[in-house]
Amino acid sequence: MKPFSRTAAPSVTMSLDRQARELAASGKDVINLTAGQVDLPMPDAGKAAIRAALDADRTGYVPATGSADLIETVRNKTGWTEGRVLISAGAKPLLTAAIACVAGPGDEVLLPAPCYTSYPETIRLAGAVPVPVFRGTPLTHEALTRGVSDRTKAIVVNNPVNPTGAVLRAPELRLLADFAKAHDLYLIADEVYHAFVYEGGFTSLYAFADVRERLILVDSASKTYAMAGLRLGYAVAPAPAAEAMSGFLSHALGCPCSLSERAAKAVLAADDTYSDELRGVFRRRRDRILAGIGRIPRLRTAPCEGAFYLWIDVSAVEADDALFCRRLLDAEGVALTPGRAFLCPGFVRLAFTKPESALAEAAARLDRFVRSYRTDAN
Ligand code: PLP
Repeated sequence: MKPFSRTAAPSVTMSLDRQARELAASGKDVINLTAGQVDLPMPDAGKAAIRAALDADRTGYVPATGSADLIETVRNKTGWTEGRVLISAGAKPLLTAAIACVAGPGDEVLLPAPCYTSYPETIRLAGAVPVPVFRGTPLTHEALTRGVSDRTKAIVVNNPVNPTGAVLRAPELRLLADFAKAHDLYLIADEVYHAFVYEGGFTSLYAFADVRERLILVDSASKTYAMAGLRLGYAVAPAPAAEAMSGFLSHALGCPCSLSERAAKAVLAADDTYSDELRGVFRRRRDRILAGIGRIPRLRTAPCEGAFYLWIDVSAVEADDALFCRRLLDAEGVALTPGRAFLCPGFVRLAFTKPESALAEAAARLDRFVRSYRTDAN
C-alpha cells in the first residue's frame, strides 16, 4: 500500500480523557481533570431555542458559513464591526480553515508555547511547519525574532492561554501586533476562553484596529455557554481571508448545525448574567485548587489568571511528566494531562472542570502521591 500523505497524532487530551472514563467505568474511583469542558448546564434560553427549532422542523442545511440573523447577533455581541463574520461547527474548524488557507507546504507558523495540542497538528495537516516560540512571561521581541523566517506566514495567539492559564495583557498584545505588522504576518487569534478571565478584565486583539486587516479571530460558544458538544463557533476575518475560509468550510463541513445555530442566537442575544455567574463558579474553583496544590511540596504552580487550567511544574518530583501522570492515575485515580501534549515536558495540566469538593479531594490525593513519590533513580 502507498503511505498516507498526511496524518495527525490523535488529541492527547481526548485520549487521556477516554482512558480515565474507561477506568471509571471499570469501577475505579477516578477524578478526571483532563478534559477542558465546562461541566455545568448550558443556558435555558439555548435549550428552549433548540426545542422550538426542532418543533419547527428546522433541520435542513443552513448557509455554509452561517445564517444572516446569527451573524448579526454575533456582531452585536462581539462588537466586530469590520471584516466578515463566519459561523462554523466550533472554533476548531475555523482555526483549521484559517491555518489551511494562510499556510501551506514550505510555510512556517509561529506558535507561542506551551500551546493548545491541536495547533501543531493542524499546522502539519496543512503541510506547513509549526515553529514553537517558548514564552517567558511575558513573550519577548527577541523570542519572536528567533522563531521568524522569510517563510513565516502567521502567528497563532491564544488568549487566555490553554494550558497555562496566562492572560495576555495589552502590552504583550501590542508587541505581537507590531511584530505581525513588521514581518507581514497573519495573526490567527483564538479567544475561546475570553469569558474566563478572573482578574483585570480581557482585552481582545480586535481592539488593535491597526491589525484588523491581518487578524483572523476565532471564538466559540463551547466554553462561554457550556455548549461544547453542540459545535458552534464564530470568527471574524478580513474579506480575502474570509472568502478563502468560506470555500474551505463549505466543502469540508457543509454548514453549521441548524439547531446549534438557534441555540447560539438565543444565548448570544441574552445579557452576560450566565457567563458572569460561570466566571464566579470557576474563580472559586481556581482559588480552591490553587490553595490545595500550593501546600504540596516540590510542586510549583503558574499564576492562573484565566481559562480553567492550572499549570503545574512537577519536574522537582519527576522529570518524566507522562510517567508522573500514569503513576498518579494508577495510585490515586487522579487524571491529569502531561505537559508534553502542549510541547512542554516537566509540567502537567489540571483542568478544574469539576465541583469544589472533587477538587479538594484531588488536591489531597495529589499531596499524598507527591509526598510518597520515589523516582526510579532512588
Ligand atoms: N481553542 C482552544 C485553546 C481550546 O482549548 C479548545 C478546546 O479545548 C478549542 C479551541 C476548541 O474549541 P471548540 O470546541 O469551539 O472547537
